[in-house]
Order: sequence, then C-alpha cells, then structure tokens
Amino acid sequence: MKTHLDWSAYDTYGIGDAFSGVPITGGNYAKAVAVCMHNRECQREGRGVMCPSFRITCDPAHSTEARVAAFKAALNGDLGPSPFTGPELAASLDLCVLCKGCKKECPSAVDMTLIKTEFLAQRNDLMGVRRRSRLLGGLPAWVGHWHRPVRALVRWRNRSPLLRKAAEKFLGLAARRRIPVPAAASFRPPAPTPAGSRGQVVLFVDTFAHHFEPEIAEAALEVLKAAGYGVTVARPASGDSEPDRSLCCGRTYLSTGQVEKARAEARRVLAALAPALEAGIPIIGLEPSCLLSMRDEFYSLGLGAEVARLGKQIFLLEEFLARESHRGLTLPLKPLPCKALIHGHCHQKAFGTMKSMRKVLGWIPDFQFEPDRVVVLRHGRRLRAGGGALRRLPGHGRAVAAAHRAGGRAGHRHRRQRLLLPPPDRGRGRAQAGSHRRAAASGAGGVGVVKTARRENICKEVVHARRQ
Ligand code: SF4
Ligand code: SF4
Repeated sequence: MKTHLDWSAYDTYGIGDAFSGVPITGGNYAKAVAVCMHNRECQREGRGVMCPSFRITCDPAHSTEARVAAFKAALNGDLGPSPFTGPELAASLDLCVLCKGCKKECPSAVDMTLIKTEFLAQRNDLMGVRRRSRLLGGLPAWVGHWHRPVRALVRWRNRSPLLRKAAEKFLGLAARRRIPVPAAASFRPPAPTPAGSRGQVVLFVDTFAHHFEPEIAEAALEVLKAAGYGVTVARPASGDSEPDRSLCCGRTYLSTGQVEKARAEARRVLAALAPALEAGIPIIGLEPSCLLSMRDEFYSLGLGAEVARLGKQIFLLEEFLARESHRGLTLPLKPLPCKALIHGHCHQKAFGTMKSMRKVLGWIPDFQFEPDRVVVLRHGRRLRAGGGALRRLPGHGRAVAAAHRAGGRAGHRHRRQRLLLPPPDRGRGRAQAGSHRRAAASGAGGVGVVKTARRENICKEVVHARRQ
C-alpha cells in the first residue's frame, strides 16, 4: 500500500501485542493502527479529552478503540477489496474531530488524527476530493487570492436563509451555523522593528489571524514589543511563486486529506522561516492547531531535518512568554475587570501547553484559576453546557479563547478571546481601537478582545492585562 504520509517512525514497532497482531496489509501504517492494546481507556469519562466523540454519544462505536478495530478489519481484508471507499470506515471516523486527544491520553499513543488524514488521502485518491473538502481545505488559497469576494459571499450566505439551505444541501455546511466572516481588511505586516532590549523574534501570522482576525496579530505584535522584542513578521521567501499570499501551515489541507497540498504549504513555510532558523531566532505563533501541526504533522510529511530544528524554535505566544519569564521577563499587568472563562484548545491540551497559559494568566493580579470552568467547556454536550455557563457567568464574565468555533448558533455568538494589550500610551493601533469598541459594546469596560479562527470547535485562550 502506497501511503501519502511518512509512517517510517513506526518501522521498528513489533508485530502487535498479546491481544492482537498487525494487520496483513498497510505496512507501517498498519503498525501505527496496531499500537492499540484495547484496554478501552478511550471509553471512560473523567479528566482529560479522549475521546470526545465517545463522551458526546456514549456510544463505544465512536471511540478511538472502535476506530482502531475498524481499521484492523479493513487492512485485514474483512471489509472487502476497497475498504477506503466503503461505508464502514467512513462511518467509524465520521465523528472523529482530529483533536489529538488520543495521541496524548491513550496509553499507547494512538494517533487517530494522523491515521484519519491518511484515510482521507486514500479515499480522495479513489473517489476524488469532495466539493466540501475542496472548499474548506482550500480556504487559505481562496481567502488569500479573493479576500473581498469571499467576504461578500460569506456575509450573503450568513444573511440569506435560502443560501444557508443551499450551502447545507450542496456543501454540507449546517444551515443553523454562522460561518466566520473574513475581516474587512487583512493583516498588514509592519516593517520589521529593530532588536529590542530582549532581542529579536519572528511572528508567524497564520491564515486565520491574517484574514479573519488581524487584530490578534496586531495585539501580539504590541505585546512582544512591549516585552522588549524587535519583531519581524514572517513573509514568503524570495522566489515564492505566490509572494502576496500569506503563509499557511497546511492544516486545512491535512484535515481534508489533501496531503500534497499540505506538503506544498509546509515547504513554503520552511523556506520562509529558513533565515530565522539559521540565525536561531525564536518564531512565535498564535493559533495552536497551526503551530502544533508544524511541530508534529510536519514530521509525517517527509520534509527533512529542518522540521526538527523548527520544532525547537517555534513557540505559542504564551509558551514563549512563560519560557522567557525564566530569563527575567516581567510584564506588569493590571487586574482583569471581569471574570474570564478559560476554554483550552484540544491541541493545546494534547501538547501540554495549557500550563504555559496558566502561568501567563497567573501574572495578572488577583487572577484566580477555576479548573471546573475549563471542564465545562468541551465538545458536544459539554460545549453546549458551556454555552449556558457563559451566559450565566456573574458580571458578564468573559470567555477567553485563542481559537474559536466555526460559528455559533444563529443568534448566539460565542464570546471572544480577550487579549488585553499594553497601555494606549504605547500607541493606539487599530487592534486597540477595535478591541475597545467591542469591549464597550459588551460592557467589558476597556478590555481588549482578540481571537483566532479554526474550523475545529474547540478553543484555547491567552489573556494579558494591560500594562500599568
Ligand atoms: S485506543 Fe488507546 S485507550 Fe483506546 S483501547 Fe486502544 S490503547 Fe486503549
Ligand atoms: S483524534 Fe480525538 S476524536 Fe479522534 S479518535 Fe482521537 S480522541 Fe477521539
């Protein structure tokens, strides 16, 4: 079986455990599936994330273990000669949200996110890329080339019940969901600032921050500059065939099984970041699933040794700030004028980066962390319960997320991530002005509002208070 992803990391795995062997076809891909030891940890409630589709449905058929079983049957030939086009695997994977919870929490580290990506790629080969996958996977290119028409179309679709229904029928986009609207203007990278008292960093602005919520990137720039760093925004390398299109990690292509396109995006990113990698300059990202894809999935794209170097030099903003605090960084912050409800992104949890967020949040005077609030906000049932919790928060509490759901229910907009910026006397950028307008609208009184976009419905948060 010719695979799209590089599964050689599983090459040295054995022939299965005492309970089941490696399927007879699939090579190293089959070995990746066969690491499951069927102890059904993924079918339990309790702390953690895994497996959200089981937790929502309470149906073992939607657990990681059941997916493994389906793959084993497929690769053993029990699902017929063409299992990747059949209904069994598709049904088994349908509710897998690619959260990476299993990679982190499964005792055997089953990576169903990657296994599903390979499945989708195989299926695309045999059946062609579906319209919906082409649309959602190609979002970085659509919005990069045709920002204004895409914005107009999305706004029209959100307003028109007829278009909503048509999009549901022909593209599988749920009519009751609002689609995120691209910002009126994309992020405009400023000229690089010279190295500050704490050195130089490169800011990687992902597709979603770039085109949907540029205020996030602008706010991050302000925070980094206020912390004493000179900031250069990563741009396509010279010689890039699309110099005007923003960089993209390729996550949307991976999520839809378009591995070759994801690989092309990844190569673009590596070429753009090569000088920073060479110079040992830290690279800061904002969106967990983008940045953590670069640390993880890039290995499976067979991109060479640069990936390992990238993994060591790239950080989420809060990771970087937390790391730098050990090297003397302090950010004097003001107390929050409201409660913050923290909603961790699933990939943040899978890669253990929530601690950094907690640490950075802890710099805010009087900030108290309430873990139960985090538990409330999760997929499915719990996410809906979280919506209620949001509405019930005393004093109009604030949900804080670095990524947002693909769109709240009509009429109920998800509360947005707050990034509380350095003081206005450092120069009121568009971000601050916009943030303050929204804050005023929501009664937050001077609280900046920033978020990033992702198709998954899980969120993460970063909060900074204004410098005093
Ligand atoms: S997927 Fe992981 S947690 Fe679930 S049964 Fe297999 S080994 Fe256990
Ligand atoms: S990626 Fe998430 S949803 Fe999919 S099997 Fe793993 S834990 Fe379950």
